[in-house]
Amino acid sequence: MPQHELPALDVESSPQSNYQAFFSALRRSEFSGDIEFSYASRLSVATDNSIYQALPQGVVLPKSVADLQVIGELASQFEDVAFSARGGGTGTNGQSLTSGIIVDVSRHMNNILEINPQERWVKVQAGVVKDQLNDALRPYGLFFAPDLSTSNRATIGGMVNTDASGQGSLVYGKTSDHVLGLTSVLADGTLLESSPMSMDEAKKVAEQKSTTGRLVKQILTTCVDKRQQILAKFPRMNRFLTGYDLEHALSDDLSTVDISRVIAGSEGSLAFVAEAKLNVTPISKHKALVNIKYDSFESALRHAPHMVAAKATSVETVDSNVLNLAKQDIIWHQVKELIKEVENKEVLGLNMVEYNGDSEDELREKITLLCANLDSALDSNEGGVIGYQITYDNADIGKIYAMRKKSVGLLGKTKGRKKPLAFVEDTGVPPENLADFIMEFRALLDARNLHYGMFGHVDAGVLHVRPALDMCDPEQEAMIPDISNEVSALVAKYGGLLWGEHGKGYRSEYAPAFFGEELYTELRKIKAAFDPLNKMNPGKICTPIDSHASLVTVGDVKRGEFDRQIPIAMRDAFAPAMNCNGNGLCFNYDTTSTMCPSSKITSDRRHSPKGRAGAMREWLRLLANKQVDVNLLEVQGKTQNFLKRLNNTMGKAQSNDFSHEVLEVMDGCLACKACSSQCPVSVDVPTFRARFLSIYYQRYMRPAKDYLVGNIEAMAPLMAKTPRLINAFLKQQWMNKLIKKTVGYVDTPLLSSPSLKKQLAGHQAGQFDLGSLQALSANERARKVLIVQDPFTSFYEADLLHDLVKLIECLGYEPILLPFMPNGKPQHVKGFLKEFASTAKDSADFLNKLAPLGIPMIGVDPSLVLCYRDEYNKVLGETRGSFEVKLVHEWLATITLPERGSSTDSQYAFFGHCTEKTALPESEKHWQQLFQRVGMSLTPISVGCCGMAGTFGHEASHLEQSKGIYALSWEKAIAKFDTSKILATGYSCRSQVARIEGEKPKHPLQAMLAHLS
Ligand SMILES: Cc1cc2nc3c(=O)[nH]c(=O)nc-3n(C[C@H](O)[C@H](O)[C@H](O)COP(=O)(O)OP(=O)(O)OC[C@H]3O[C@@H](n4cnc5c(N)ncnc54)[C@H](O)[C@@H]3O)c2cc1C
Ligand code: SF4
Ligand code: SF4
Repeated sequence: MPQHELPALDVESSPQSNYQAFFSALRRSEFSGDIEFSYASRLSVATDNSIYQALPQGVVLPKSVADLQVIGELASQFEDVAFSARGGGTGTNGQSLTSGIIVDVSRHMNNILEINPQERWVKVQAGVVKDQLNDALRPYGLFFAPDLSTSNRATIGGMVNTDASGQGSLVYGKTSDHVLGLTSVLADGTLLESSPMSMDEAKKVAEQKSTTGRLVKQILTTCVDKRQQILAKFPRMNRFLTGYDLEHALSDDLSTVDISRVIAGSEGSLAFVAEAKLNVTPISKHKALVNIKYDSFESALRHAPHMVAAKATSVETVDSNVLNLAKQDIIWHQVKELIKEVENKEVLGLNMVEYNGDSEDELREKITLLCANLDSALDSNEGGVIGYQITYDNADIGKIYAMRKKSVGLLGKTKGRKKPLAFVEDTGVPPENLADFIMEFRALLDARNLHYGMFGHVDAGVLHVRPALDMCDPEQEAMIPDISNEVSALVAKYGGLLWGEHGKGYRSEYAPAFFGEELYTELRKIKAAFDPLNKMNPGKICTPIDSHASLVTVGDVKRGEFDRQIPIAMRDAFAPAMNCNGNGLCFNYDTTSTMCPSSKITSDRRHSPKGRAGAMREWLRLLANKQVDVNLLEVQGKTQNFLKRLNNTMGKAQSNDFSHEVLEVMDGCLACKACSSQCPVSVDVPTFRARFLSIYYQRYMRPAKDYLVGNIEAMAPLMAKTPRLINAFLKQQWMNKLIKKTVGYVDTPLLSSPSLKKQLAGHQAGQFDLGSLQALSANERARKVLIVQDPFTSFYEADLLHDLVKLIECLGYEPILLPFMPNGKPQHVKGFLKEFASTAKDSADFLNKLAPLGIPMIGVDPSLVLCYRDEYNKVLGETRGSFEVKLVHEWLATITLPERGSSTDSQYAFFGHCTEKTALPESEKHWQQLFQRVGMSLTPISVGCCGMAGTFGHEASHLEQSKGIYALSWEKAIAKFDTSKILATGYSCRSQVARIEGEKPKHPLQAMLAHLS
């Protein structure tokens, strides 16, 4: 019998007693990092981009090498306490998953320690993100060459331990090719410094009784004694057999030995990597990218080796599935001019061929030769080439690669329950075998009627293939081992590797077959020398010799096992949370990207779209296991009576209800909506967050600030009747203290004085009358513009709305201010969903009545105007009607603008609102074009979120974070300009700048008005 009340949700597992004892001991020790074992923290690292799920006992986040040593030393006293190191958590095969403890180096150990441009090396902590490093190296004309699609969140520690590589690997090699030295910590806390040593020195060290001596002795015994077998077994491929790399532990001439080469690719199964000294490479001065279009994917594959032979630096490929998905994504806006359609032909395969050169002449020569070949292929209809485009522009090249890097995410957007999955996705075969291999691979998948998209590094013979399966269906899950076995046999047939790029993880069970029994035994000896007690990522790659522990397998527990406990209707209703595939794009380190400000400021994986989606899924699962239908709760759920809610709330501190953890995770969300459009599978946190809040508060008391925010649209018009009086109160310190104490609200904004009503008294714009508008002729209506009010602009920035009235008049139109109708966005943000539905209906009814007039309706604040498009659609469905509210720039783009001469006074910096930039990615460009049309100049500034996000920044509990987010990207960017030259489209952004800098920037429409009038 389904329940109608939200029950308390006990979490299903607490850390085991030995782990609890370890955490207590760690807390008492010198350890200076963080120790977290809340259920939500553990869940946030229980998944990666793979199909597996393993709940760790807790997460420890060290701050230094010494912290890692303390962890190891202490763990020696705790039998069965095991670890897995973790960086970005972007593994595709469960590499970092463990039921032990996650040691996450990404939060604190992320400093670049030294850059030596003369000798071309850097020293970094393991948690440094690859793009972070390259941003720091760029001013020196250098870069860390091994590339990977996850470069904006994958860490150096993760790259070293998976021996990451990607685009350009033929020229730039793998990560291990660039490791000059490592500082590592062994499972018992021993510090290990490794760098290449001469064979003579190595032999001496091997004699020592030290830990290093033991390791070197084993490495020498294995790698020297078994050299012939190793060379015979390891494939002669660019993507050599990593984990453990017995071949490259010795130099080709056997003159040097390097322990780092064994650690590289070991997937955390040998040691914690704390710091790395890396070789860095000069950035090529000249680059060109040729995008070659084909009539089929097979044509693209078969053509690629010719490009390699023609000395291309790299050849990347995508098939038509990926291309078509990219066309529907926000990213296509950036690349559509660079990959134009071919007339009367369909582009079914694309090769992106990069050429680098030290001089422009050298580069042009290579490109001319290539073009001659391509032209002749086009003329003779050979090789399936149907067109090509060249770009020499670095920014454009970056855009194309950003599209290619997003491929996996794009595939994840596939509609339906079957989702593309990583489990055989990084096969590598000698490039000359690739096309034949892929044809057989396709046949294998086609025989099972599976859909898939393909893309990858054709130059290295590595292709990414993700078959789509519904892991909630046990029958489909059962296909995983079968397909894995068949693909494993197929790569062996073509002389390749099952793990051409991403490492082994749960595929470690295939390691004995790939290494052969003799060499696999050697791996186990090496593991025993490093980690005799099997504490480091147990089950991955191999087990210590003489141990009876087992390897992880592809048949192990998967996420589907948990997800399928949630009934289908609930899964469908919360699809955005279910669809998160853990690729980690929402951890983007770049502070100027809009993606998840709360993740950036907290460095806490719980407070990211991924963390929130994971918490949501678990909440749904726990509810389902209690026979609670969330869909029913939403519609018929009973809000418990006041006394019950008060009682529940008072007992909150004592209760283990998991809903509190979910609330905490949702509370940090700014509802900026960046995830809704930037996440490749559109994990829309604000929507499920609002739904969660609406249900949570059926059981618990709401904080007073929620009522304040939820009712702001009702209160503001009333307060605006006597702005001077209200402001006089708000200016009092005691009043601010009182508001902060009682409602938890800070820096309450002052109302506009004189009010909008006063400013427009007697003005034609204030005379709305539907009947008169209906009576107008079409020509008369064509001169009118309806202004849709929002509470923030109308009551707190009346001057801006007055300026809009003036601008419309100045452009030859007649503005009419519509009566204020609440929009409902603040109610939605706080999860007053029933109230929001009713507000939205009233507002939509009103606006639909006006729509037939055919008069443009425009609004100023992006977040509220966009609410009409997104949240209204979701809540009202068909009944939303067809009314359209345009943003100011959208309306301006439809009319003729007067031409004016340009002047130096009319140059501005543009700070877009993040909801607007992500939902309407061309908005910055459009404002720029509009300014140009009237002789003004606008430079869009690359910034992330301002930290205000509606009322988030006004809530005392978020104040520090709000200011911290501002400091991430806005502070420095704003400091570069005079405030009079700064334009911002968001009310929140303008308020945040005003509160922090003391001066309020203007809206672009105000600058345009000043220029035109
Ligand atoms: C969409 C997508 C695209 C990808 N594309 C590529 C690609 O182009 N090329 C490529 O090579 N890979 C790719 N990968 C795989 C993945 O991004 C890489 O393996 C990356 O190197 C992992 O880095 P991370 O920081 O996320 O490591 P994690 O996933 O956190 O960890 C990976 C492994 O390294 C170990 N580890 C992490 N840090 C340490 C440390 N400090 N000490 C010891 N062990 C540690 C972990 O225990 C684990 O075994 C892709 C993944 C995704 C989701
Ligand atoms: S929320 Fe989106 S971007 Fe983040 S891990 Fe999930 S799918 Fe990837
Ligand atoms: S709405 Fe913004 S803050 Fe919230 S999860 Fe999405 S990106 Fe992060």
